[in-house]
Amino acid sequence: MRILLVEDDQLLGDGIATGLKENNYTVDWLQDGLSAVKATKHEHFDIIVLDLGLPKKSGIEVLKHLRQNKINTPVIILTAKDTIEDRVAGLDAGADDYLTKPFELQELCARLRACQRRVNSSINSEIMIGNVKLDTASHKMYINEINMPLSRREFSLMHKLLENPGKVVSRDILSQSIYGWGDDVDSNAIEVHIHNLRKKIGNSIMLRTIRGVGYIIEESE
Ligand code: CA
Repeated sequence: MRILLVEDDQLLGDGIATGLKENNYTVDWLQDGLSAVKATKHEHFDIIVLDLGLPKKSGIEVLKHLRQNKINTPVIILTAKDTIEDRVAGLDAGADDYLTKPFELQELCARLRACQRRVNSSINSEIMIGNVKLDTASHKMYINEINMPLSRREFSLMHKLLENPGKVVSRDILSQSIYGWGDDVDSNAIEVHIHNLRKKIGNSIMLRTIRGVGYIIEESE
């Protein structure tokens, strides 16, 4: 899952970015509102974690811009001031959730999972298709209830595909969900991960290639 973090506080931003990466998220970190607006124009993010007090464009302005331009990426706002007005303004501008500073990383991770579940309209942290179960809280995959270890990127790919069962997920979206800006990406990296995933899932579900477009997960017949 790829997160855009917009936070101008160096220490806090660095802490959140590092913590989220340790929790298997792909994180891109920006430090002002204007860059955030520019980034969301061309890039796909699964969730945006947005500070409200930002240079160049405030968090509320960024949020309004996103919603006006029909960018519906879930947004969790970070507010320093625990005032009702602040939170109401954020939620009214289209935020999906908020966290008041200071907060624990664990709570942010839980909010991120909750946000993702609402997007997928699932009721808990598990996604199940056929006999494959993905637990998005513990980052584990089970096949017939037996744990099948996945690398961080394999897990992210599987997550993205299982969120869209029966739908083609483009190579581009998959690539953006597992690689951030600073990452070194091999041109055939996705193919390699998919190849490894296929070996791990065997014939419990089908992971098909749609040539020139992307990949699709379907239940085995
Ligand atoms: Ca700030």
